[in-house]
Amino acid sequence: MKKVAVIGGGYGGLRAIEHLAKNKDFSITLFDMNSYHYLQTEAYGYIAGRFDLHDVALDLQNWCLGFDNKVKFVQDEVTFIDSANNTITTKNKTYDFDFCIIATGARTNFFKQIKGLDKYGYGVKKLFRSHGFRTAFEKLLYEKLLEPSVQQQNMNLAIGGAGLSGVEIAAEMADVIKRHTKSIGDSAQELKIYLIDASDTILPGMSPYIIENTKTRLEELGVHIMTKSFISSIDHDTIYFQDDSQLHYTFMIFTGGIIANTIPMDQEVELNRMGQYICDETLRITKNIFAVGDCVELKDSKDAILPPTAQTAERSAEYVVKTINQLLSNEDIETFRARVDGVFVALGGYYAVGELFQYIKVKGKLAYLLKKLITKSYYIGLKLRLNTGFMRRSSLQEE
Ligand SMILES: Cc1cc2nc3c(=O)[nH]c(=O)nc-3n(C[C@H](O)[C@H](O)[C@H](O)COP(=O)(O)OP(=O)(O)OC[C@H]3O[C@@H](n4cnc5c(N)ncnc54)[C@H](O)[C@@H]3O)c2cc1C
Repeated sequence: MKKVAVIGGGYGGLRAIEHLAKNKDFSITLFDMNSYHYLQTEAYGYIAGRFDLHDVALDLQNWCLGFDNKVKFVQDEVTFIDSANNTITTKNKTYDFDFCIIATGARTNFFKQIKGLDKYGYGVKKLFRSHGFRTAFEKLLYEKLLEPSVQQQNMNLAIGGAGLSGVEIAAEMADVIKRHTKSIGDSAQELKIYLIDASDTILPGMSPYIIENTKTRLEELGVHIMTKSFISSIDHDTIYFQDDSQLHYTFMIFTGGIIANTIPMDQEVELNRMGQYICDETLRITKNIFAVGDCVELKDSKDAILPPTAQTAERSAEYVVKTINQLLSNEDIETFRARVDGVFVALGGYYAVGELFQYIKVKGKLAYLLKKLITKSYYIGLKLRLNTGFMRRSSLQEE
């Protein structure tokens, strides 16, 4: 039996386990400091009040039990990896392994250069942060419902960063406000959404089709787009820009950058400017330690660095498991080259914009349904495993 340690129960970690579990010669342990898998890709709907907690969080213990005795779950933070002795140290204990897959993801980078950002900005990479933002947004709507005639100051919701997550959150909130106007009254429209980015465009790096159609949809929803806007500092109610302009705000969410979660090791490891591991072409840090997902720099066949997505996290995890199997059976190993099959941007309500294999372009309800199909099939896969685990847990408790 080979012991495989997977650190991180996100998109990469869970996909790795699904594939590892097919090999009966592996004994697998999943480590995560949280008790749940957080579906970050659905965060936009949770923040805007469209999805509930059970749509964005799944219990990892129940999920692991869904593999019978094959996968053990340890809820603990991994603090050190000893590559010389093949051990992992958590806050409470030390474990040994034959292979280790690091899938620790990334967190919001509250850039130190932007004074006040860490104090006043919300991130969305952690569930408690999204929850805080959701509560604040709901409170604003609630206050408007109670006292529509009271002119509240600074009814501006600011979103820093117009990448995929910033755009999706802005669109969903704007759509909710539009729909709330019917029930809460016209005063809900006093809530204004500002989408701020230092780049020349929203969704930098995406295709002109995606950018143009997203921009049109955001404008239709009444989102104020501020590109080429460099934030220099923030205090409790004002955002200050480098060109000396200001924006008063009620609360701010920051999606403008991430920094990888890495784990201290007994040897020096090369990192890029986003703090991601720079691995060899087989995603290895050492001969038996691999990294997948947001925590590692991933490149496509043209050697271009790919933006961190759930899709590439899953691809890299599948590749690593295949590689471990090939190593054990002395087969040749291919180098890793990620590819992006498609991108879909949810833009509030039943609207999305998307591209598949670069040449199929869709927008509107059809794109929304395709996006939903992708996320739903992911969710259903997890749910089936979760249900099996939950039933097993109940029968174990009865014994
Ligand atoms: C709002 C939003 C919308 C998005 N939309 C999309 C989208 O539409 N499509 C898409 O493909 N991607 C999207 N993404 C990006 C996608 O969510 C990430 O790329 C994906 O989560 C990366 O998966 P991962 O497995 O690398 O890391 P994560 O999913 O972040 O998981 C990392 C796990 O590691 C655990 N961990 C970290 N450090 C330790 C430690 N030391 N010890 C133990 N456990 C640890 C964490 O608790 C976490 O569970 C979106 C992201 C956001 C925030």
